[in-house]
Amino acid sequence: MSDLELFRKDTRAWLEAHAPASIIGTPSNELEGVWGGTKWTFDNPDKKVWLDVMAEKGWTAPTWPTEYGGGGLSNAEAKVLAQEMKDLKLPAPLIGFGLTMIGPTLLRFGNEDQKQEHLPRICRGEIRWCQGYSEPGSGSDLASLQTKAVRDGDDFVIGGTKVWTSYADQADWIFALVRTDGSGKKQEGITFILIDMDDPGVSVSPILLISGKSPFCETHFSDVRVPVRNVIHEIGAGWTVAKALLGHERTMIADTFGSSGPRARSQGERSFLSELAISRVGERDGEVADPVLRDDIAAFEMESRAFALTVQRTKDAARAGHQPGSESSMFKIYGTELNQRRYELMVRILGPDALGWEGPGFEPADLDTTREWLRSRGNSIEGGTSEVQLNIIAKHVLGLPA
Ligand SMILES: Cc1cc2nc3c(=O)[nH]c(=O)nc-3n(C[C@H](O)[C@H](O)[C@H](O)COP(=O)(O)OP(=O)(O)OC[C@H]3O[C@@H](n4cnc5c(N)ncnc54)[C@H](O)[C@@H]3O)c2cc1C
Repeated sequence: MSDLELFRKDTRAWLEAHAPASIIGTPSNELEGVWGGTKWTFDNPDKKVWLDVMAEKGWTAPTWPTEYGGGGLSNAEAKVLAQEMKDLKLPAPLIGFGLTMIGPTLLRFGNEDQKQEHLPRICRGEIRWCQGYSEPGSGSDLASLQTKAVRDGDDFVIGGTKVWTSYADQADWIFALVRTDGSGKKQEGITFILIDMDDPGVSVSPILLISGKSPFCETHFSDVRVPVRNVIHEIGAGWTVAKALLGHERTMIADTFGSSGPRARSQGERSFLSELAISRVGERDGEVADPVLRDDIAAFEMESRAFALTVQRTKDAARAGHQPGSESSMFKIYGTELNQRRYELMVRILGPDALGWEGPGFEPADLDTTREWLRSRGNSIEGGTSEVQLNIIAKHVLGLPA
């Protein structure tokens, strides 16, 4: 038996021995699952058991080094672990921006103290992170940001406002871009810094979305004192860190919405969309009765599966140490457009049942679909708009003149 086959056998046995039965089949993707942090409440105590045993084993972050709480697995071993978990219908024990965004960034740019301070706590799900990039007036033109950080001894004193900060009200820490110098090129005076959301002077106010939910906030900093040791990389070199993190973010968004989202999973022989369509418009000869709808679902499924395989290749490369580059912009556009198409198809299938908002007369799942369809409009904005991704692809992938 090869080493990898042995690893598979041991992994399977370990998972079967340690996974609580009640978590089998529960959702796990980058939106649904355990986000962790001090404000997180577990709807099922077994999810906490699952998180703790997996964290203890290092398998919340399987490829991260063991000294920082990871599993130290090779790319091939991590893939085997993912396959076995999928086979046993086990959810990821932990999701969130710690694992997908700031963690990989700290591994690359953080100093030893910063890695020791934050990475093990991320792996154990003890702290939840949010992202403080955008500001009122600085979204696509992010480098124009104005949140100011003024040096005062061993601290920076930070003042300004961040906007669209997803889950700021749930987060324990924020990774933020601040302006430490306004004199040179706008990219040069930006610093990447970590801020404790409990620090005096930090406040958040929720923003209500078209979907009726409020996953994000305005985050205000009023004379917040942050130690200089919380700067990642160098003072004034934050733009480099910010861009690297965006590569991880865009790949994660593409993966979440485009290829492994809740509605992307197939159920048995038929896809989720086919099942839904058959339940609403009927079945003829074992297929969706409406031929035009059937055609559109088939086209969508083929593109969706091809995309999932492409993203899988990139994830494999990332596990092997490859940093996502400008190609993440291609995934971001394609993945988010796929997700918007998915919800447009679902709303089309539901017909009048998609017109509900709240109250009796509509199924809860249909009401959710309508809200998720509205939420999907934001996919082509978050993490950088589609137009901005097209600019990046034109310039950095195709090499077209600016
Ligand atoms: C659901 C969601 C979650 C988010 N979460 C976070 C978060 O956690 N943290 C965070 O910091 N930010 C977050 N954002 C903010 C997001 O990054 C910004 O909304 C995005 O970068 C666009 O910036 P803007 O809203 O200021 O739009 P603008 O930059 O004002 O753009 C307006 C329009 O102009 C177009 N445009 C702008 N510049 C160009 C150009 N050069 N060429 C062509 N077209 C252009 C844009 O494509 C867009 O259509 C989130 C946004 C959404 C929708």
